[in-house]
Amino acid sequence: MAQARLIEELIESLRALPGIGPKAAQRMAYQLLSSKKKEAERLGRTLLEAVDKVHRCPSCNNLTDSDLCQYCASPDRDDSLLCVVESVADMMVIEQSLSWSGRYFILMGRLSPLAGVGPSDISFNHLVQRVGDERVKEVVLATSFTPEGEATALAITEILQRYYPQLRISRIAKGVPAGAELEYTDVNTVAQAMLNRQIRENN
Ligand SMILES: [Zn+2]
Repeated sequence: MAQARLIEELIESLRALPGIGPKAAQRMAYQLLSSKKKEAERLGRTLLEAVDKVHRCPSCNNLTDSDLCQYCASPDRDDSLLCVVESVADMMVIEQSLSWSGRYFILMGRLSPLAGVGPSDISFNHLVQRVGDERVKEVVLATSFTPEGEATALAITEILQRYYPQLRISRIAKGVPAGAELEYTDVNTVAQAMLNRQIRENN
């Protein structure tokens, strides 16, 4: 039956989204097609328009519907600081932390030799080019603390040091999470926090 095929296709499409299992996809499809037809129409229109107009920012790889994304276009940000992250989601977390006033660069992935992801599969060349902007004085590596994220940070350090010997390269610190009790923190995290300890200045 034609109708059943369309419903099946809708459920399959919804299942492609992260975190959506078969049950949830089915529930969403039935809701959209029965009680939420207006929302479904709006979702369809917005999705088509977004797919058509949203593109990668040529400077940092963020998603935008303007020439440059809001973070690259803002005159209030520090051009000398560039924070390298793996994904748009990672950039948003740093943004929400209100701890960063510099610019961003999104790698769109991380090195993963086992999965066949090499430097040419993520934006290494683009990053080297971006750091060529002489206003950039420090690059902060904010890739994940997984083996792949660490390997990515190391590879970026090596390549940037080769191209730009004067550049300052830093890595975000590992440590005990805010609000955590030491007793319940895993020993590796405590060890890293001890290594990354900071001197208390005398007042
Ligand atoms: Zn941008």
